[in-house]
Amino acid sequence: MCGIVGYVGSRDATPLLVNGLRRLEYRGYDSAGVAIQENGHLEVRRAEGKLDNLVQAIAQKPLTGRSGIGHTRWATHGRPSEQNAHPHVDCGAVTAVIHNGIIENFAELKAPLVSDGHRFSSETDTEVVVHLLEEELKRGRPLEEAALRVLPQLEGAAALAFLSVKDPGKIVAARISNAGGVIVGYGEGENFIASDIPALLEHTRRMTFLDPGEMAVVTATGVSFRRLEDGAQIEKAVQQIQWDAVSAAKAGYKHFMLKEIHEQPRVVSDTLIGRVERTSGRVVFDDDLKLTDAQVRSLQRITLLGCGTAGYAALAGKYLIERLAKIPCDAEIPSEYRYRDPVVTGDHLVVSLTQSGETADTLGAMEEAKKRGARLLTFVNVMGSQASRLADDVIYLHAGPEISVASTKAYTTMLVDLYLFAIYLAQRRGTVSAEEAGQLLAEAFHLPTLIDAVLGEEPKVKALAYRYHQARDFLFLGRGMNYPTALEGAHKLKELSYSHAEGTAAGEMKHGINALIDETLPVIAIALRDSTYKKMRSNIQEVRARAGVVIAVADDDDEEIAEHADAVIRVPHTNELLSPALAVLPLHLFAYHVADRRGNDVDQPRNLAKSVTVE
Ligand code: GLU
Repeated sequence: MCGIVGYVGSRDATPLLVNGLRRLEYRGYDSAGVAIQENGHLEVRRAEGKLDNLVQAIAQKPLTGRSGIGHTRWATHGRPSEQNAHPHVDCGAVTAVIHNGIIENFAELKAPLVSDGHRFSSETDTEVVVHLLEEELKRGRPLEEAALRVLPQLEGAAALAFLSVKDPGKIVAARISNAGGVIVGYGEGENFIASDIPALLEHTRRMTFLDPGEMAVVTATGVSFRRLEDGAQIEKAVQQIQWDAVSAAKAGYKHFMLKEIHEQPRVVSDTLIGRVERTSGRVVFDDDLKLTDAQVRSLQRITLLGCGTAGYAALAGKYLIERLAKIPCDAEIPSEYRYRDPVVTGDHLVVSLTQSGETADTLGAMEEAKKRGARLLTFVNVMGSQASRLADDVIYLHAGPEISVASTKAYTTMLVDLYLFAIYLAQRRGTVSAEEAGQLLAEAFHLPTLIDAVLGEEPKVKALAYRYHQARDFLFLGRGMNYPTALEGAHKLKELSYSHAEGTAAGEMKHGINALIDETLPVIAIALRDSTYKKMRSNIQEVRARAGVVIAVADDDDEEIAEHADAVIRVPHTNELLSPALAVLPLHLFAYHVADRRGNDVDQPRNLAKSVTVE
């Protein structure tokens, strides 16, 4: 879950590493550190907390050198502290290690090292690796040979990188399992490693992605790859990345989250472009969707998988696909699916949704489904990510880099892609008429303009957020297509504002939630003029009858609703199936402004991190 970076070349490594870490800080911010190697020495600076603390530590005691590694931590073993911050070094400060993930058998590996006299200075699982390396390097092996002996002993999820004065000017980086990506970036007379693309974009767009079980040996003049299993040299392709450094920067917005919210008209256009064939009016995914029309027709069941926000997109996907393509669907939580002995039947498609493509639970569930004979399709934002490699079919979200820990634009693009995918299935199975499909698609192409209009309502949403920011609890209600929207609204508010929020299907209130309602409870009710409108209005009445405060998200021409609500946020009308992509926007803005008003760190909420590469 942490961020790792590395540099070898002829420039001063420290500022390059710190810059890279800045772009990766969203992955973990319990501590940060760098190790630089120069003239036979290894120098380490580490600091607890955010990267700025490390910057200060470096300013007080500068360090220079032309090769180095850096880390931002999301603690799993040992509390957040300077002592537990990476890089960790061996007894003689000869070698440094950084690590993303968990080494499950660290205790077994550590015991004999301690008996042999190794001194451990942290509580982390990671430190054991550098002491194991110390043993191997003592025998005079080059760094990569030592690594090839140590890495196979590690169980669990991990990406690691090493730097040693025993073998100067070289970084060895490895990806042991699905969890924890490693990317190599190629420069002129210099090379880089990082756990994610944005850390490298300002230097290069030429990158190679390690697969699990692979290692990279990186020097200023060359990069070679080895397989961990048998040490064999392997060839890896260089990929040209399309993202640009500007879109990975804040561009004048106070937070990445706000910038990403405002990018949605554009990314939704990018999502739609090229996806409808002019002559036939059929949806096409030329990304990497190899399903044949015959296979689509014989599909018997679809299971959609996603964690957190992607899980709510999965639920919306179930509603969409069942409604349009009439295929039985389930939406499931990957961490449950992978361990609950799920049944995969013939012609069963498992669809995973993941922004990063590196979410450990999602990857685990995909592997489980594959083992049981399912065909795998993934909706993923990051090209070359592990999900895109595991899956048989890939649909790329064209969201661009999403840096804020709280997902916004990736969620919206998931919704739009699922809408298109449901139409795609329906067209091939003959469950929508050409006319209906044409209408649904025309409305989709209008969506960027409608999104723009909703974002124009931000001042109103902000004022409401400021009015209610001190509430202790919030309730989000929705029905039908906007039941997942209610769940997502509550989820976003929780993760950003740290208040308790609950999302529920409005029909469920009477079975328990009503007990929570009193005059201190703001209730955000999504009441669009769709097939659930009348029911929602009754639910709103029930809340008011119990003195709850109602903020309604309603159609812009719905005059009546104001009589039933304390405040109304208006969104333009679109069809019911597409409406979640509009209704969620004010909820994201609301969560953003509540959190910002409370003085919380919006882009980096406490105890969370972006790509969750640990179980
Ligand atoms: N397990 C390691 C630790 O707790 C690495 C965690 C991470 O991925 O940041 O230090």
